[in-house]
Amino acid sequence: MKFTLAPLPYAYDVLEPVIDAKTMEIHYSKHHQAYVNNLNAALEKYPTLPEQTIEQLLINLEKLPADIQTAVRNNGGGHFNHTMFWSLLVPEKKYLAPSTTLLARIVKDFGSFDAMKEQFSNAAKTRFGSGWAWLIVDTTGKLKVTSTANQDVPFKEGKPVLGLDVWEHAYYLNYQNRRPDYITNFFKIINWKKVEENLR
Ligand code: MN
Repeated sequence: MKFTLAPLPYAYDVLEPVIDAKTMEIHYSKHHQAYVNNLNAALEKYPTLPEQTIEQLLINLEKLPADIQTAVRNNGGGHFNHTMFWSLLVPEKKYLAPSTTLLARIVKDFGSFDAMKEQFSNAAKTRFGSGWAWLIVDTTGKLKVTSTANQDVPFKEGKPVLGLDVWEHAYYLNYQNRRPDYITNFFKIINWKKVEENLR
């Protein structure tokens, strides 16, 4: 089982000024590539492991040999999270607000779009250290905001549909300590069509 880094679906500079080209280049070609390489290195120790998707590997982590569980959790999580993250971003000029259907669902579960945005932003701001803020569909089918540490994916809570990387490597070159500004600007480049696809 060998994982590969899929091509980034756009050029490094298309998300400027929200995310600068240098950050995108390092984030994708160094950080994400390292997660893929380290994941493969861990799995190579057990060539007879059955073929699994990245989701299956992470959901069934405790069934893996004990000595590679941490490496797969961290690097497999990193691979899954970043693949999803790239797919969720669009240039500001191509931004599309949530569809009527998606908006109705957000309003049903949060009261309003702004209430969801506030909860999500707070989760992203208050995640101490490195981690992710998430919009998920929980096990009862309800949209919910949560956050995780490191590269953990909230599969136990539900299915992630929108994620924001709040590791310093995701914003420090451009925003330094101003994580709240990065979070505010993130809302200008969300691909809500993709979020809706993830909900299906
Ligand atoms: Mn990252």
